[in-house]
Amino acid sequence: MKFFTRPKIYLVGKQVMSDADARRFLEEEGTTWMTDTAIDGEKLPELAGRMCYMSFGDKQGRKSNKDYLGHILEVGHGSVLEHTVFNFIFTGVSRSLTHELIRHRAGFGYSQLSQRYVDERDAGFVIPPAVQGDAELENAVRGFCESTSKLYAELTDKLADKYTSPRQLVDFALRDEMLVAKDEGYAFKPGHGEAKPPAGTRSIAEWATFVESDKEANKYLRKVTLTARRKTAREAARCVLPNATETKIFVTANARALRHFIELRGDIHAEAEIRALACDVCRLVIKEAPNLFGDYEVVKLPDGSERTRTKHRKV
Ligand SMILES: Cc1cc2nc3c(=O)[nH]c(=O)nc-3n(C[C@H](O)[C@H](O)[C@H](O)COP(=O)(O)OP(=O)(O)OC[C@H]3O[C@@H](n4cnc5c(N)ncnc54)[C@H](O)[C@@H]3O)c2cc1C
Repeated sequence: MKFFTRPKIYLVGKQVMSDADARRFLEEEGTTWMTDTAIDGEKLPELAGRMCYMSFGDKQGRKSNKDYLGHILEVGHGSVLEHTVFNFIFTGVSRSLTHELIRHRAGFGYSQLSQRYVDERDAGFVIPPAVQGDAELENAVRGFCESTSKLYAELTDKLADKYTSPRQLVDFALRDEMLVAKDEGYAFKPGHGEAKPPAGTRSIAEWATFVESDKEANKYLRKVTLTARRKTAREAARCVLPNATETKIFVTANARALRHFIELRGDIHAEAEIRALACDVCRLVIKEAPNLFGDYEVVKLPDGSERTRTKHRKV
């Protein structure tokens, strides 16, 4: 069984600017623009901000991107930071972390591992920072995770078995509208997978009896209802999975929203696991776009954990 102690961050996408189109815009407006950053995610908010006042050419004023974005942060003109977007995958995080993360609505997009589609019998678990290093507590948490994982597997298997009774198979076919009302009874719609559906029109009770005795019909129904049956088993069995269950989440956030996240979740009052994530994200984006995030610092605390700090809060 896998246990996680620190989130993993993958920066899978970042902002790309079309220099050609920016040049075309400037040419068609009869002006020029000089910037000194090579980072597209920093260029774009500068271009957006300058376009508001058409401060190009001899009206350019501040010469460096750092000065320009520094001024944006100073005056709180944060909306221009929304033009820069980052795409992350976070793994090794708990369901309790993602429950807090997805409360960040503005400027964020999420896609999370489905506990209904994906079998969680091999799921890992996150050991909370406060428990890490305490052998007795860690053993207790690990033991609990192992037993709950067993219970999940047992529940999933038992439910999946339950759903293979002839009546349940017929009910799944009805629910997914493979079996539909026709004349005085019900008949299979054609075209579900490669196998041919059983022919005939019968009442629901007659279909159940037929599926019990006819091997081919039984095989067909088991096949075409497999995904739905598994999903139904998993969605019920996941009730025993704890907050500590590891999950994976794809997160897209613009720079302004990310700053807000780093401030709220990197704060000393934030929960320890998400605070560690916010600190790691903060370090990463400082490297990726120092002119957008360089006002942050990640500070070590007496207990060895970290927090973030900035003088420009909520721009
Ligand atoms: C230390 C800590 C403890 C917390 N404890 C709890 C708790 O006990 N219970 C709980 O439910 N939550 C709790 N939260 C979550 C918190 O209430 C927020 O839901 C979360 O931090 C997201 O913040 P946000 O709404 O500012 O972010 P976003 O949703 O990303 O919004 C960003 C900003 O956009 C603006 N905005 C967004 N939506 C609206 C809107 N509909 N109307 C007006 N303005 C809007 C606001 O200015 C907001 O700050 C806690 C958060 C922290 C950091």
